[in-house]
Amino acid sequence: MRLLLIFVVGLILPTAVVVATSGAVISAPSGDTCSITGTGTNYTAVINIPTNGTYPDRVAAAVERLTGVLAGTQLVINVSLDAVGERNDVIRGLKGDYEKATETLSRLRAMKKPNLTVGLHSVISRHNVREFPAIADALASLGPDQYIVEPAEERVELQTIGTGITPKAAELDTALAHVEGRLRSRGSDGLPALTRAIRLVYYRLARDTVRRREQVIPCYAAIASVHIAANGDVWGCCTRARPLGNLRKNGYDFRAIWRSAEAKEERRSIKAKECACPLANAAYTSILMDPRSLLSVAREAL
Ligand code: SF4
Repeated sequence: MRLLLIFVVGLILPTAVVVATSGAVISAPSGDTCSITGTGTNYTAVINIPTNGTYPDRVAAAVERLTGVLAGTQLVINVSLDAVGERNDVIRGLKGDYEKATETLSRLRAMKKPNLTVGLHSVISRHNVREFPAIADALASLGPDQYIVEPAEERVELQTIGTGITPKAAELDTALAHVEGRLRSRGSDGLPALTRAIRLVYYRLARDTVRRREQVIPCYAAIASVHIAANGDVWGCCTRARPLGNLRKNGYDFRAIWRSAEAKEERRSIKAKECACPLANAAYTSILMDPRSLLSVAREAL
């Protein structure tokens, strides 16, 4: 399991958001749910977990348990689907994936737990970008509490560097414009206005980033957020995946890694805009740190 810790929220409120950013952590037969409950402190407002949903029984059992243990923390489970039916199975490389993932979605929705949000998440890549408006409509009609999307980007972590998986800017524009249109037109979908506004600003930022191939707003990865990999490596972000240090090897002294020469160099490089990507986790926190983006959020929310 890989964790994303978001600090920017802690600057405003005595809370934290923990995102388990690698898929299927709650599909494990055992173990990982124990570490997830361990993260649920009094200061953890939200725990966000993606799952490919291919083990409906395991996921349902784990979520049943977590919603009880983590009372007081909002648990967000996002099931990943990138298309409909067999097309999804081809893109995600697993026969039967769509059927199992939609079963997982149905079972989670049926739980109706007050501290559970059940979402659907799609990655827009060159494999599905052209038909994405129809895909978005079909998946959203499955009735998740939220439907979120993110452009595919080449990541060191996912070994997708050089694969050309990121969609072309013009095609991504069309796909995201459709998602934005859905968001704007569905004022009664139960989403808080602030959530809808931040998403709209993110989608615009993602489109601009892919088109311009540069940081459109300053990225605050390694300042406002950080990733912790399963092996203990601490990364500024999972796109670059450059180890700033390793928690297991240094006796779990996070502060030492956070203040290390490697961390300083990472922040210098990011500040110098030596990289750019539409990674949603980092972008959302960067939006919260950027005054102009916050103004855009306020305009969208009003
Ligand atoms: S822009 Fe931010 S999230 Fe993207 S690669 Fe650079 S540091 Fe990572």
